[in-house]
Amino acid sequence: MADITIFQARTIVTMNPSAPKATHVAVRDGRILGVGALSDLQGWGDYELNTQFADMTLMPGFVEGHAHAMEGTLWRHVYCGFFDRMDPNGKVWDGLKTLDDVLDRLKQAEAELTDPDAPLTGFQLDPIYMDNITVTRHDLDQVSATRPIGILHASGHILNVNTKALELAGMMRTGLNHPGIELGADGMSIGVLKSPEVYMPVGPIIGLDRAATDADEPGLRDFAKLCVRTGTTTVTDLASRLDDNAVEMMLRVTGEPTFPARVVPLKFFMGHTPEELISITLEHKKKSTDQLRLGRIKVIADGSIQGFSARLRWPGYHNGAPNGLWYIAPEQLSEIYHRALEADICVHTHTNGDQATDLALDMLSPALTAHPRPDHRFTLQHCQLADPAQFRRMKSLGMCVNLFANHHFYWGDEHYRLTVGPERAERMNACRTALDNDVPMTIHSDAPVTPLAPLFTAWCAVNRITASGRVQGEAEKISVEEALQAVTLGAAYTLHLDGEIGSIEVGKHADFAVLDADPTTCDPTTLKDIGVWGTVQGGRIFAAADL
Ligand SMILES: [Zn+2]
Repeated sequence: MADITIFQARTIVTMNPSAPKATHVAVRDGRILGVGALSDLQGWGDYELNTQFADMTLMPGFVEGHAHAMEGTLWRHVYCGFFDRMDPNGKVWDGLKTLDDVLDRLKQAEAELTDPDAPLTGFQLDPIYMDNITVTRHDLDQVSATRPIGILHASGHILNVNTKALELAGMMRTGLNHPGIELGADGMSIGVLKSPEVYMPVGPIIGLDRAATDADEPGLRDFAKLCVRTGTTTVTDLASRLDDNAVEMMLRVTGEPTFPARVVPLKFFMGHTPEELISITLEHKKKSTDQLRLGRIKVIADGSIQGFSARLRWPGYHNGAPNGLWYIAPEQLSEIYHRALEADICVHTHTNGDQATDLALDMLSPALTAHPRPDHRFTLQHCQLADPAQFRRMKSLGMCVNLFANHHFYWGDEHYRLTVGPERAERMNACRTALDNDVPMTIHSDAPVTPLAPLFTAWCAVNRITASGRVQGEAEKISVEEALQAVTLGAAYTLHLDGEIGSIEVGKHADFAVLDADPTTCDPTTLKDIGVWGTVQGGRIFAAADL
């Protein structure tokens, strides 16, 4: 049997400007030997011609620069989201439009539990779509007063719990004093826990075993199914605790011959001193493999805009909500930056609000003066409210940005009406401004916050249509080519992987998204509707239909 496979496609979109389109790609040992016409490739020797994609389009496998593998684990729990959504097995769950709908689905799931002490866990709740109501422990007590219940919000930044969960966590008492714990008239928590710092200790009590941030083994496998279904061949796990057992598990699972994605986990900063964080990350870096890329850090500076926990500059929230929460002290962020630059470790920093973006820029500037590091690729994640001056500062500091394009669709209307008002909503997630200022840019889903689907993410950045159908921010639209670049080479660049993945050209990994149509020639408003047959990853074929 020949050790070269030549895949034939209707079109191959290479993302390599010197040979943008082709019909054949030759693969050996999981890597690309050449791309072009069949006659260009025959000189490499004996080959097997694979024509199964002859009617399809190949693109570089999509690279998701901001997602969380915990989505795989969450799907074993009760879906409480507002929008219809596909699970790892391809089943589409109906969105729930009212709190009563949510409570009904929870009651149904509760009735099916046989162990009276088992926790009931839900995910993807988002009360902002329900007139921004506050869901309290009393609401969830209607589902059960005797078993612990926890419902993670879509933002991932807030956990709703019932009274039993608070009891088991030792939190049904007065005197709790934390900005992330809202108290009722009785001086007790109302069951809304804001920020992972506050809710992580409650995670195991309500059934989120790995403290809510990590995928477990079946979860990681399920998450990989979502990757195949969406054409994604490299995916970040952007805030992983990465304890020893988790690293061992991830190395083992991603190393299996049938595991279909390259995973890039970033070590979550919480729970460690900056010094520990760097030494753990340096140890992880040594264990890195082709399919599991270790050795990066994720820091979170603030919360979420739709949860009103992001840090905004003046004039703050449009509806008058108090400013959000800091997740890190300036001194701690500064020390992480200094030490990481010294150790040549890349740090990605979540900043939703513009005040948080300022903090990151203010802390990085002196750290870079102390430890100059060319090509550091420190990346601001989300960075939703950045204004042009902040993009210019990113450029001058050599930073990359990963903008939350999906927000235009999912929360654009709420941002316009409620959180930041029309003017700032129009320019949120400013892809055009980033590119015009020459800041290396990618766009993301933040799955599970919004669904993993790079073609949908590209559609969001190109069309900027909100859930109600309005175009929001005409001036920040980017072209289809720019959006496709963002979800391939753009994301690869933020991970220092652009020399290996993100385009179809000689020497790179044979990672392809197999599509029903060519995104570069379709109507841009239909980008999100292009069918994904599956992927080729490292030369191995994965059909979504066979998962
Ligand atoms: Zn995230």
